Amino acid sequence: MITQTLSLEDRIAARPGDFRVLTGDRPTGPLHLGHYFGTLRNRVRLQQSGVDLVVVVADYQVLTDRDVAERLVPTVEGLILDYLAAGLDPDRATIFTHSAVPALNQLVLPFLSLVSVPELQRNPTVKDEIAHSRQSSVSGLMFTYPVHQAADILFCKGNLVPVGQDQLPHVEVTRTVARRFNERYGPVFPVPEALLGTAPLLLGTDGTKMSKSRGNAIALSATADETARLIRGAKTDADRHITFDPQARPEVSGLVQLAALCLDQDPHEVAATIGAAGAAALKRTVTEAVNEFLAPMRARRAAYAQEPGLVREVLRTGNARANAVADQTLQEVRVAMGTLY
Ligand code: ATP
Ligand code: MG
Repeated sequence: MITQTLSLEDRIAARPGDFRVLTGDRPTGPLHLGHYFGTLRNRVRLQQSGVDLVVVVADYQVLTDRDVAERLVPTVEGLILDYLAAGLDPDRATIFTHSAVPALNQLVLPFLSLVSVPELQRNPTVKDEIAHSRQSSVSGLMFTYPVHQAADILFCKGNLVPVGQDQLPHVEVTRTVARRFNERYGPVFPVPEALLGTAPLLLGTDGTKMSKSRGNAIALSATADETARLIRGAKTDADRHITFDPQARPEVSGLVQLAALCLDQDPHEVAATIGAAGAAALKRTVTEAVNEFLAPMRARRAAYAQEPGLVREVLRTGNARANAVADQTLQEVRVAMGTLY
């Protein structure tokens, strides 16, 4: 079959209508450059190419690694503004909060029966998130996070998931759940594929994964001055000559990569241009590149923020659409499982 020899990108380009993308973010803070180059840019590209896009604001999953979800409403609203500024179009994409979609959450129960506790305990991303968690003990929600994510993806029969590298083990759990459900009850779910972005693991200003919760992120919505301050405070190393060597020099290379992504240049070239000029010159280059790259997005965001009721309307429409899809899927699950009364 020709389709089996084509790459995923070729298959998407040839038949965008065959794909439904499910992806999303936890409303734990403003989106940052890691999100943009890891997944958001891919989402916008897929939307433009005609793929059906569903985006979950994973509000329940905020509670996986903190005791209370503080300031949830403004954070969710900020996330929606980030989406719109980055180019997600609510007329084409369904943007919803999963707490508002009961049928989606009900899928978690049969799905939990399809995975074992040791399988959940082995998940490397869950282990990593536990290591960075603010909680004194690990909650059940943290362990079952990847199964909840399977419900997020499968409620709409998503078959393509644009994510950063940290999410690959989670997508693997979704694939397992889909396969096992289909084997046990008959074919209901697609087995989704992950799609990595240009920077599947963008590093933050401390040389580790850029992350909302680690204080090392450059928010898409930060001001130019905040951006300059964050980059000025970024870690570098003792070697004055700038090179791109992610293994040996993660902090410097992370900064070089940021500039390269924003300038759309090869990171080795960016490093060579700076060379002996050192870390201060590198930071100047990164600051300028990031601020120039983000300026139009920041301007769009400020304009959307002025539109009263816009964010609420996006979520009202998205939640209504998501509920209709989830109800339909749950009905199919009931039929497959023989739980129709
Ligand atoms: P938190 O620290 O609260 O977990 P986060 O910054 O890790 O936040 P998530 O909401 O967990 O963000 O992740 C949303 C999406 O963005 C996922 O697909 C994830 O893979 C991607 N992503 C997050 N950080 C990065 C990064 N540094 N590089 C590439 N992709 C990223
Ligand atoms: Mg995360």
